[in-house]
Amino acid sequence: MFRQDAALSLAISACLRWDVANMKITFCGAAGTTTGSKHLIEVNNSRILLDCGLYQGRRAEAMERNRDFPFDPAKIDCVVLSHAHIDHAGNLPHLCKRGFTGNIFSTPATRDLCSIMLPDAAHIHESDISWLNRHRKRDDLPELEPSYRQVDAEKCLRQFVTLGYERHMHIADGVRLTFIDAGHVLGSAQVILDIDDQATGKHSRLLFSGDIGRPDNDLLNNPAPCEKVDYVIMESTYGGRKHELAAQTADHLCKIIREVQQRRSHLIIPSFAVERTQQLLFTLDRLRHENCFGPIATYVDSPLAVKATEIFRLHVDELKPEASKALFMRHDPFGFEGLHLVRTVDESKSLNRIKGPAIIISASGMAESGRILHHLRNNVENPNNILLFVGYCAENTLGWKLRSGHKHVNILGDEFEVRAEIETLDSFSGHADHDELLSWFDRVGGVKKRVFLVHGEPERSEKLCEALSAKHPTGQVEVARLMQSVEL
Ligand SMILES: [Zn+2]
Ligand SMILES: [Zn+2]
Repeated sequence: MFRQDAALSLAISACLRWDVANMKITFCGAAGTTTGSKHLIEVNNSRILLDCGLYQGRRAEAMERNRDFPFDPAKIDCVVLSHAHIDHAGNLPHLCKRGFTGNIFSTPATRDLCSIMLPDAAHIHESDISWLNRHRKRDDLPELEPSYRQVDAEKCLRQFVTLGYERHMHIADGVRLTFIDAGHVLGSAQVILDIDDQATGKHSRLLFSGDIGRPDNDLLNNPAPCEKVDYVIMESTYGGRKHELAAQTADHLCKIIREVQQRRSHLIIPSFAVERTQQLLFTLDRLRHENCFGPIATYVDSPLAVKATEIFRLHVDELKPEASKALFMRHDPFGFEGLHLVRTVDESKSLNRIKGPAIIISASGMAESGRILHHLRNNVENPNNILLFVGYCAENTLGWKLRSGHKHVNILGDEFEVRAEIETLDSFSGHADHDELLSWFDRVGGVKKRVFLVHGEPERSEKLCEALSAKHPTGQVEVARLMQSVEL
Protein backbone atom coordinates (compact mmCIF):
# COMPACT_ATOMS: atom_id res chain seq x y z
CA MET A 1 0.00 0.00 0.00
CA PHE A 2 2.74 2.35 1.03
CA ARG A 3 4.71 1.51 -2.13
CA GLN A 4 1.66 2.21 -4.31
CA ASP A 5 1.13 5.61 -2.65
CA ALA A 6 4.77 6.51 -3.13
CA ALA A 7 4.64 5.47 -6.79
CA LEU A 8 1.46 7.50 -7.27
CA SER A 9 2.94 10.58 -5.65
CA LEU A 10 6.07 10.27 -7.84
CA ALA A 11 3.88 9.97 -10.93
CA ILE A 12 1.85 13.04 -9.90
CA SER A 13 4.92 15.13 -9.20
CA ALA A 14 6.40 14.04 -12.56
CA CYS A 15 3.18 15.23 -14.25
CA LEU A 16 3.27 18.49 -12.34
CA ARG A 17 6.84 19.03 -13.47
CA TRP A 18 5.92 18.36 -17.06
CA ASP A 19 5.57 22.05 -17.93
CA VAL A 20 8.43 23.21 -15.67
CA ALA A 21 11.73 22.82 -17.52
CA ASN A 22 15.10 22.41 -15.79
CA MET A 23 17.21 25.48 -15.16
CA LYS A 24 18.84 26.64 -18.40
CA ILE A 25 21.61 29.14 -19.16
CA THR A 26 22.03 30.67 -22.62
CA PHE A 27 25.14 32.70 -23.37
CA CYS A 28 23.75 35.54 -25.48
CA GLY A 29 26.86 37.77 -25.49
CA ALA A 30 30.50 38.09 -24.34
CA ALA A 31 31.05 34.48 -25.43
CA GLY A 32 34.13 34.16 -27.67
CA THR A 33 34.69 37.89 -27.18
CA THR A 34 34.97 40.37 -24.33
CA THR A 35 32.06 42.69 -24.95
CA GLY A 36 28.26 42.52 -25.04
CA SER A 37 27.89 40.63 -21.75
CA LYS A 38 24.45 38.99 -21.65
CA HIS A 39 23.51 35.61 -20.12
CA LEU A 40 19.95 34.38 -19.87
CA ILE A 41 18.92 32.17 -16.93
CA GLU A 42 15.59 30.38 -17.27
CA VAL A 43 14.28 28.70 -14.16
CA ASN A 44 10.85 28.09 -12.57
CA ASN A 45 9.22 29.77 -15.57
CA SER A 46 11.15 32.99 -14.91
CA ARG A 47 13.67 34.59 -17.25
CA ILE A 48 16.51 36.42 -15.56
CA LEU A 49 19.03 38.29 -17.68
CA LEU A 50 22.54 38.72 -16.24
CA ASP A 51 23.87 42.00 -17.72
CA CYS A 52 22.75 43.65 -20.95
CA GLY A 53 25.94 45.03 -22.46
CA LEU A 54 26.83 46.60 -25.77
CA TYR A 55 28.98 44.69 -28.22
CA GLN A 56 31.95 46.87 -29.22
CA GLY A 57 34.15 46.33 -32.25
CA ARG A 58 33.89 46.98 -36.01
CA ARG A 59 31.16 49.57 -36.48
CA ALA A 60 28.96 47.63 -38.93
CA GLU A 61 29.19 44.38 -36.96
CA ALA A 62 28.57 46.20 -33.68
CA MET A 63 25.43 47.87 -35.10
CA GLU A 64 24.20 44.52 -36.36
CA ARG A 65 24.83 42.68 -33.07
CA ASN A 66 23.38 45.42 -30.88
CA ARG A 67 20.27 46.04 -32.97
CA ASP A 68 18.50 42.76 -32.15
CA PHE A 69 18.08 40.57 -29.10
CA PRO A 70 18.04 36.77 -29.37
CA PHE A 71 14.98 36.75 -27.07
CA ASP A 72 11.82 38.77 -26.64
CA PRO A 73 12.70 41.69 -24.27
CA ALA A 74 9.07 41.84 -23.08
CA LYS A 75 9.36 38.28 -21.76
CA ILE A 76 12.37 38.97 -19.54
CA ASP A 77 11.26 39.12 -15.89
CA CYS A 78 14.25 41.00 -14.47
CA VAL A 79 17.85 42.00 -15.15
CA VAL A 80 20.71 41.57 -12.69
CA LEU A 81 23.52 43.99 -13.51
CA SER A 82 27.08 43.23 -12.37
CA HIS A 83 28.51 46.72 -12.95
CA ALA A 84 28.11 49.94 -14.87
CA HIS A 85 30.61 49.44 -17.72
CA ILE A 86 29.02 49.84 -21.12
CA ASP A 87 29.93 46.32 -22.24
CA HIS A 88 27.70 45.12 -19.36
CA ALA A 89 25.00 47.82 -19.07
CA GLY A 90 25.02 49.70 -22.38
CA ASN A 91 22.13 47.95 -24.10
CA LEU A 92 19.68 48.35 -21.18
CA PRO A 93 17.95 51.45 -22.62
CA HIS A 94 17.38 49.54 -25.86
CA LEU A 95 16.02 46.52 -23.92
CA CYS A 96 13.54 48.79 -22.13
CA LYS A 97 12.57 50.52 -25.34
CA ARG A 98 11.82 47.12 -26.87
CA GLY A 99 9.35 46.20 -24.15
CA PHE A 100 11.24 45.14 -21.01
CA THR A 101 9.34 46.52 -18.01
CA GLY A 102 10.85 44.53 -15.11
CA ASN A 103 13.31 45.49 -12.38
CA ILE A 104 17.01 46.06 -13.01
CA PHE A 105 18.86 44.97 -9.87
CA SER A 106 22.23 46.60 -9.17
CA THR A 107 24.28 48.03 -6.31
CA PRO A 108 23.60 51.72 -5.43
CA ALA A 109 26.94 52.92 -6.90
CA THR A 110 26.30 51.01 -10.14
CA ARG A 111 22.94 52.72 -10.43
CA ASP A 112 24.52 56.16 -9.86
CA LEU A 113 27.25 55.49 -12.42
CA CYS A 114 24.62 54.27 -14.91
CA SER A 115 22.76 57.56 -14.42
CA ILE A 116 25.67 59.31 -16.18
CA MET A 117 27.04 56.52 -18.36
CA LEU A 118 23.83 55.34 -20.08
CA PRO A 119 22.74 58.81 -21.32
CA ASP A 120 26.35 59.40 -22.44
CA ALA A 121 26.42 56.11 -24.41
CA ALA A 122 23.05 56.99 -25.94
CA HIS A 123 24.42 60.34 -27.05
CA ILE A 124 27.42 58.62 -28.68
CA HIS A 125 25.09 56.14 -30.40
CA GLU A 126 22.89 58.96 -31.75
CA SER A 127 25.95 60.86 -33.02
CA ASP A 128 27.27 57.68 -34.69
CA ILE A 129 23.98 57.22 -36.52
CA SER A 130 23.92 60.86 -37.70
CA TRP A 131 27.51 60.44 -38.97
CA LEU A 132 26.54 57.24 -40.81
CA ASN A 133 23.42 58.88 -42.23
CA ARG A 134 25.46 61.73 -43.72
CA HIS A 135 27.50 59.09 -45.59
CA ARG A 136 24.42 57.07 -46.55
CA LYS A 137 22.75 60.18 -47.95
CA ARG A 138 25.72 60.72 -50.26
CA ASP A 139 25.34 57.12 -51.49
CA ASP A 140 21.55 57.46 -51.85
CA LEU A 141 20.90 54.89 -49.13
CA PRO A 142 17.90 55.15 -46.76
CA GLU A 143 18.56 56.78 -43.39
CA LEU A 144 19.01 54.63 -40.27
CA GLU A 145 17.16 55.18 -36.97
CA PRO A 146 19.11 54.99 -33.68
CA SER A 147 18.08 51.86 -31.73
CA TYR A 148 17.50 54.09 -28.70
CA ARG A 149 17.88 57.72 -27.70
CA GLN A 150 19.04 59.65 -24.65
CA VAL A 151 15.43 59.89 -23.44
CA ASP A 152 15.21 56.05 -23.40
CA ALA A 153 18.37 55.92 -21.26
CA GLU A 154 16.86 58.37 -18.79
CA LYS A 155 13.58 56.39 -18.70
CA CYS A 156 15.27 53.04 -18.05
CA LEU A 157 16.95 54.43 -14.92
CA ARG A 158 13.50 54.37 -13.27
CA GLN A 159 13.52 50.57 -13.48
CA PHE A 160 16.59 50.22 -11.22
CA VAL A 161 16.19 48.62 -7.80
CA THR A 162 19.33 48.75 -5.68
CA LEU A 163 20.78 46.26 -3.22
CA GLY A 164 23.96 46.74 -1.17
CA TYR A 165 26.76 44.18 -0.93
CA GLU A 166 25.95 41.05 1.09
CA ARG A 167 22.24 41.83 1.45
CA HIS A 168 19.71 39.33 0.06
CA MET A 169 16.64 39.79 -2.10
CA HIS A 170 14.12 37.40 -3.68
CA ILE A 171 14.00 38.40 -7.32
CA ALA A 172 11.97 35.58 -8.91
CA ASP A 173 10.15 32.42 -7.91
CA GLY A 174 12.70 30.34 -5.96
CA VAL A 175 15.61 32.69 -6.73
CA ARG A 176 17.52 34.75 -4.16
CA LEU A 177 20.08 37.38 -5.21
CA THR A 178 23.19 38.48 -3.30
CA PHE A 179 25.88 40.87 -4.55
CA ILE A 180 29.47 40.65 -3.27
CA ASP A 181 32.33 43.02 -4.09
CA ALA A 182 34.18 42.28 -7.36
CA GLY A 183 36.85 44.99 -6.80
CA HIS A 184 36.76 45.89 -10.51
CA VAL A 185 35.12 49.31 -10.61
CA LEU A 186 33.15 51.37 -8.08
CA GLY A 187 29.98 49.38 -7.24
CA SER A 188 31.06 46.31 -9.22
CA ALA A 189 29.63 43.03 -8.03
CA GLN A 190 29.88 39.31 -8.34
CA VAL A 191 26.36 37.93 -8.60
CA ILE A 192 25.23 35.02 -6.43
CA LEU A 193 21.93 33.34 -7.32
CA ASP A 194 20.60 30.79 -4.82
CA ILE A 195 18.14 28.76 -6.81
CA ASP A 196 15.46 26.26 -5.75
CA ASP A 197 14.74 24.54 -9.04
CA GLN A 198 11.13 23.35 -8.90
CA ALA A 199 11.66 21.00 -11.84
CA THR A 200 14.34 18.95 -10.10
CA GLY A 201 13.66 19.86 -6.46
CA LYS A 202 17.35 20.70 -6.16
CA HIS A 203 18.96 23.70 -4.55
CA SER A 204 22.00 25.13 -6.29
CA ARG A 205 24.17 28.20 -6.10
CA LEU A 206 25.27 29.94 -9.28
CA LEU A 207 28.09 32.49 -9.17
CA PHE A 208 28.53 34.97 -12.01
CA SER A 209 31.92 36.61 -11.58
CA GLY A 210 31.09 39.79 -13.54
CA ASP A 211 34.50 41.35 -14.23
CA ILE A 212 37.06 40.40 -11.59
CA GLY A 213 39.32 43.14 -10.24
CA ARG A 214 42.97 42.95 -9.23
CA PRO A 215 44.06 42.49 -5.65
CA ASP A 216 45.86 45.50 -4.13
CA ASN A 217 44.05 48.12 -6.20
CA ASP A 218 44.73 51.66 -4.86
CA LEU A 219 41.05 52.55 -4.58
CA LEU A 220 38.97 49.39 -4.35
CA ASN A 221 38.68 46.44 -2.00
CA ASN A 222 39.88 43.01 -3.12
CA PRO A 223 37.31 40.73 -4.80
CA ALA A 224 35.31 38.99 -2.04
CA PRO A 225 35.31 35.18 -1.73
CA CYS A 226 32.17 33.07 -2.13
CA GLU A 227 31.26 29.70 -0.56
CA LYS A 228 29.29 26.59 -1.59
CA VAL A 229 29.19 27.29 -5.30
CA ASP A 230 27.79 24.71 -7.76
CA TYR A 231 28.01 26.56 -11.06
CA VAL A 232 30.36 29.36 -12.11
CA ILE A 233 30.18 31.79 -15.03
CA MET A 234 33.63 33.35 -15.02
CA GLU A 235 35.36 36.08 -17.01
CA SER A 236 38.61 35.25 -18.82
CA THR A 237 39.81 38.56 -20.32
CA TYR A 238 43.47 38.06 -19.39
CA GLY A 239 43.77 34.26 -19.47
CA GLY A 240 47.41 33.41 -20.23
CA ARG A 241 48.60 37.00 -19.63
CA LYS A 242 50.57 38.50 -16.83
CA HIS A 243 50.32 42.16 -15.74
CA GLU A 244 53.19 44.33 -14.65
CA LEU A 245 53.55 44.67 -10.85
CA ALA A 246 52.28 47.88 -9.22
CA ALA A 247 55.77 49.02 -8.18
CA GLN A 248 57.14 48.54 -11.72
CA THR A 249 54.17 50.49 -13.06
CA ALA A 250 54.90 53.46 -10.82
CA ASP A 251 58.55 53.54 -12.03
CA HIS A 252 57.47 53.17 -15.64
CA LEU A 253 54.89 55.96 -15.34
CA CYS A 254 57.40 58.33 -13.68
CA LYS A 255 59.93 57.64 -16.43
CA ILE A 256 57.36 58.48 -19.12
CA ILE A 257 56.36 61.73 -17.37
CA ARG A 258 59.98 62.83 -16.89
CA GLU A 259 60.59 62.12 -20.59
CA VAL A 260 57.62 64.29 -21.60
CA GLN A 261 58.86 67.07 -19.28
CA GLN A 262 62.30 66.94 -20.85
CA ARG A 263 60.92 67.01 -24.40
CA ARG A 264 58.33 69.66 -23.43
CA SER A 265 55.80 67.55 -25.28
CA HIS A 266 52.40 65.98 -24.63
CA LEU A 267 51.46 62.77 -22.89
CA ILE A 268 48.06 61.66 -24.20
CA ILE A 269 46.26 59.03 -22.14
CA PRO A 270 43.05 57.51 -23.54
CA SER A 271 41.30 56.43 -20.38
CA PHE A 272 37.95 55.05 -19.33
CA ALA A 273 36.11 57.94 -17.73
CA VAL A 274 35.01 55.82 -14.83
CA GLU A 275 37.46 54.24 -12.45
CA ARG A 276 40.60 54.28 -14.61
CA THR A 277 40.69 58.09 -14.64
CA GLN A 278 40.14 58.32 -10.87
CA GLN A 279 42.76 55.63 -10.30
CA LEU A 280 45.24 57.50 -12.52
CA LEU A 281 44.62 60.76 -10.66
CA PHE A 282 45.06 58.99 -7.34
CA THR A 283 48.38 57.48 -8.47
CA LEU A 284 49.64 60.72 -10.10
CA ASP A 285 48.88 62.58 -6.88
CA ARG A 286 50.77 60.02 -4.79
CA LEU A 287 53.81 60.00 -7.12
CA ARG A 288 53.83 63.79 -7.27
CA HIS A 289 53.86 63.89 -3.43
CA GLU A 290 56.74 61.43 -3.42
CA ASN A 291 58.61 63.88 -5.74
CA CYS A 292 58.95 61.28 -8.49
CA PHE A 293 58.52 64.11 -11.04
CA GLY A 294 58.13 67.88 -10.99
CA PRO A 295 54.82 69.80 -11.30
CA ILE A 296 53.14 69.23 -14.65
CA ALA A 297 49.88 70.62 -16.04
CA THR A 298 47.34 67.79 -16.11
CA TYR A 299 44.03 68.05 -17.96
CA VAL A 300 41.09 65.68 -17.55
CA ASP A 301 39.13 66.34 -20.72
CA SER A 302 36.01 64.26 -20.35
CA PRO A 303 32.74 65.61 -18.95
CA LEU A 304 31.85 62.05 -18.00
CA ALA A 305 35.09 61.57 -16.03
CA VAL A 306 34.46 64.81 -14.17
CA LYS A 307 30.93 63.66 -13.22
CA ALA A 308 32.17 60.17 -12.32
CA THR A 309 34.71 61.68 -9.93
CA GLU A 310 31.81 63.31 -8.07
CA ILE A 311 30.07 59.91 -7.78
CA PHE A 312 33.26 58.47 -6.27
CA ARG A 313 33.03 61.12 -3.58
CA LEU A 314 29.41 60.05 -2.86
CA HIS A 315 30.41 56.44 -2.31
CA VAL A 316 33.61 56.79 -0.32
CA ASP A 317 32.33 54.08 2.06
CA GLU A 318 32.71 51.55 -0.76
CA LEU A 319 36.36 52.43 -1.41
CA LYS A 320 39.34 50.91 0.34
CA PRO A 321 39.69 52.39 3.86
CA GLU A 322 43.04 54.06 2.94
CA ALA A 323 41.48 55.69 -0.13
CA SER A 324 38.41 56.96 1.69
CA LYS A 325 40.68 58.33 4.42
CA ALA A 326 42.70 60.22 1.79
CA LEU A 327 39.48 61.66 0.36
CA PHE A 328 38.40 62.90 3.80
CA MET A 329 41.83 64.27 4.70
CA ARG A 330 43.34 67.67 4.03
CA HIS A 331 44.64 67.09 0.54
CA ASP A 332 42.31 65.89 -2.18
CA PRO A 333 43.74 63.33 -4.63
CA PHE A 334 41.04 64.24 -7.13
CA GLY A 335 41.93 67.93 -7.01
CA PHE A 336 45.73 68.32 -6.79
CA GLU A 337 47.72 71.36 -7.86
CA GLY A 338 48.09 71.71 -11.64
CA LEU A 339 45.00 69.55 -12.26
CA HIS A 340 42.40 71.06 -14.61
CA LEU A 341 39.00 69.45 -15.02
CA VAL A 342 37.85 70.48 -18.48
CA ARG A 343 34.09 70.81 -18.90
CA THR A 344 33.13 72.92 -21.92
CA VAL A 345 33.82 72.27 -25.61
CA ASP A 346 35.65 75.62 -25.89
CA GLU A 347 38.00 74.69 -23.05
CA SER A 348 38.58 71.35 -24.74
CA LYS A 349 39.39 73.01 -28.07
CA SER A 350 41.80 75.40 -26.35
CA LEU A 351 43.92 72.36 -25.43
CA ASN A 352 44.96 72.23 -29.11
CA ARG A 353 47.01 75.35 -28.47
CA ILE A 354 48.71 74.50 -25.16
CA LYS A 355 52.48 74.25 -25.09
CA GLY A 356 54.07 71.22 -23.43
CA PRO A 357 54.86 69.68 -21.13
CA ALA A 358 51.34 68.53 -20.36
CA ILE A 359 49.31 65.43 -19.62
CA ILE A 360 45.90 65.08 -21.29
CA ILE A 361 43.65 62.33 -19.98
CA SER A 362 40.55 61.85 -22.09
CA ALA A 363 37.87 59.24 -22.87
CA SER A 364 37.07 56.82 -24.32
CA GLY A 365 39.65 54.30 -23.17
CA MET A 366 39.51 52.28 -26.39
CA ALA A 367 39.67 55.55 -28.39
CA GLU A 368 36.43 54.66 -30.15
CA SER A 369 34.61 57.91 -29.49
CA GLY A 370 34.67 61.08 -27.42
CA ARG A 371 37.11 63.98 -27.14
CA ILE A 372 40.17 61.69 -27.15
CA LEU A 373 39.74 61.42 -30.94
CA HIS A 374 40.50 65.14 -31.35
CA HIS A 375 43.57 64.90 -29.12
CA LEU A 376 44.82 61.90 -31.07
CA ARG A 377 44.36 63.74 -34.37
CA ASN A 378 46.38 66.66 -33.01
CA ASN A 379 49.16 64.66 -31.41
CA VAL A 380 49.61 61.34 -33.18
CA GLU A 381 51.95 62.63 -35.90
CA ASN A 382 54.45 64.34 -33.57
CA PRO A 383 57.32 61.96 -32.66
CA ASN A 384 57.99 63.89 -29.42
CA ASN A 385 54.58 63.02 -28.00
CA ILE A 386 53.77 59.86 -26.11
CA LEU A 387 50.46 57.99 -26.28
CA LEU A 388 49.97 55.91 -23.18
CA PHE A 389 47.43 53.07 -23.02
CA VAL A 390 46.37 52.15 -19.52
CA GLY A 391 43.63 49.64 -20.24
CA TYR A 392 42.20 46.91 -22.37
CA CYS A 393 41.26 47.69 -25.98
CA ALA A 394 38.87 45.33 -27.78
CA GLU A 395 40.02 44.01 -31.14
CA ASN A 396 39.62 46.38 -34.12
CA THR A 397 39.04 49.48 -32.01
CA LEU A 398 41.31 52.49 -32.73
CA GLY A 399 43.04 51.98 -29.36
CA TRP A 400 43.79 48.37 -30.27
CA LYS A 401 45.25 49.42 -33.65
CA LEU A 402 47.54 52.00 -32.02
CA ARG A 403 48.59 49.56 -29.28
CA SER A 404 49.28 46.86 -31.86
CA GLY A 405 51.67 49.15 -33.76
CA HIS A 406 49.63 50.08 -36.84
CA LYS A 407 51.60 52.74 -38.73
CA HIS A 408 48.57 54.39 -40.31
CA VAL A 409 45.20 54.92 -38.66
CA ASN A 410 41.95 56.53 -39.61
CA ILE A 411 40.66 59.07 -37.09
CA LEU A 412 37.27 60.69 -37.69
CA GLY A 413 37.44 59.99 -41.39
CA ASP A 414 41.05 61.09 -42.08
CA GLU A 415 44.21 59.03 -42.46
CA PHE A 416 47.11 59.75 -40.06
CA GLU A 417 50.66 58.46 -39.82
CA VAL A 418 51.49 57.20 -36.31
CA ARG A 419 54.76 58.90 -35.36
CA ALA A 420 54.16 59.46 -31.62
CA GLU A 421 55.70 56.94 -29.24
CA ILE A 422 53.31 54.26 -27.96
CA GLU A 423 53.52 53.04 -24.37
CA THR A 424 51.28 50.67 -22.41
CA LEU A 425 50.76 50.11 -18.69
CA ASP A 426 48.51 47.12 -18.22
CA SER A 427 48.76 46.98 -14.47
CA PHE A 428 46.22 49.80 -14.32
CA SER A 429 43.87 47.23 -15.73
CA GLY A 430 40.69 46.70 -13.76
CA HIS A 431 40.92 43.00 -14.67
CA ALA A 432 42.75 40.26 -12.85
CA ASP A 433 45.56 38.63 -14.87
CA HIS A 434 45.98 34.88 -15.39
CA ASP A 435 47.46 34.08 -11.96
CA GLU A 436 45.02 36.41 -10.23
CA LEU A 437 42.10 34.69 -11.98
CA LEU A 438 43.38 31.35 -10.75
CA SER A 439 43.69 32.55 -7.18
CA TRP A 440 40.18 34.08 -7.37
CA PHE A 441 38.95 30.64 -8.49
CA ASP A 442 40.75 28.98 -5.55
CA ARG A 443 38.85 31.23 -3.17
CA VAL A 444 35.50 30.16 -4.64
CA GLY A 445 34.38 27.35 -2.33
CA GLY A 446 32.07 24.43 -3.15
CA VAL A 447 31.99 21.60 -5.65
CA LYS A 448 32.01 23.88 -8.72
CA LYS A 449 30.42 21.16 -10.85
CA ARG A 450 30.50 23.19 -14.06
CA VAL A 451 32.52 26.27 -14.90
CA PHE A 452 31.71 28.33 -17.99
CA LEU A 453 34.32 30.79 -19.24
CA VAL A 454 33.01 33.96 -20.85
CA HIS A 455 34.26 37.52 -21.53
CA GLY A 456 37.50 36.65 -23.35
CA GLU A 457 38.97 36.46 -26.85
CA PRO A 458 39.05 32.73 -27.79
CA GLU A 459 42.80 32.33 -27.21
CA ARG A 460 42.62 33.94 -23.73
CA SER A 461 39.63 31.81 -22.67
CA GLU A 462 41.33 28.61 -23.93
CA LYS A 463 44.49 29.39 -21.95
CA LEU A 464 42.47 29.86 -18.78
CA CYS A 465 40.40 26.76 -19.54
CA GLU A 466 43.56 24.61 -19.78
CA ALA A 467 44.91 25.91 -16.48
CA LEU A 468 41.59 25.58 -14.64
CA SER A 469 40.90 22.09 -15.99
CA ALA A 470 44.28 20.90 -14.68
CA LYS A 471 43.61 22.52 -11.32
CA HIS A 472 40.00 21.36 -10.99
CA PRO A 473 39.71 17.77 -12.29
CA THR A 474 36.49 17.07 -10.35
CA GLY A 475 34.55 19.74 -12.23
CA GLN A 476 33.85 20.37 -15.90
CA VAL A 477 35.50 23.57 -17.18
CA GLU A 478 34.52 24.80 -20.64
CA VAL A 479 34.62 27.89 -22.83
CA ALA A 480 31.06 29.08 -23.46
CA ARG A 481 30.01 29.48 -27.10
CA LEU A 482 27.79 32.28 -28.35
CA MET A 483 24.12 31.22 -28.12
CA GLN A 484 25.03 27.91 -26.48
CA SER A 485 22.27 26.74 -24.13
CA VAL A 486 23.05 24.47 -21.20
CA GLU A 487 20.52 22.66 -19.02
CA LEU A 488 21.62 22.21 -15.43
ZN1 LIG B 1 34.07 46.01 -16.58
ZN1 LIG C 1 33.61 43.78 -19.10
